[in-house]
Amino acid sequence: MYLVITCPRCGNYSVVRDTVKTHECPYCGYLIRIEEASIIARAGNGREAREIILKLKTPRELKRKP
Ligand SMILES: [Zn+2]
Repeated sequence: MYLVITCPRCGNYSVVRDTVKTHECPYCGYLIRIEEASIIARAGNGREAREIILKLKTPRELKRKP
């Protein structure tokens, strides 16, 4: 099982295995304790988890009209 969590410091999404206790945020380097992180979603595999993140993210660059 994989978890989609948000970093308490910078708010970016990360995918972690549900077996880990901590995760270093790839964006700001903050060491997230899984028990204190906000769990956004659960996924059966890493690919599914990344698809969830893609749906959650709403890149302003893509939405902006020229
Ligand atoms: Zn972070």
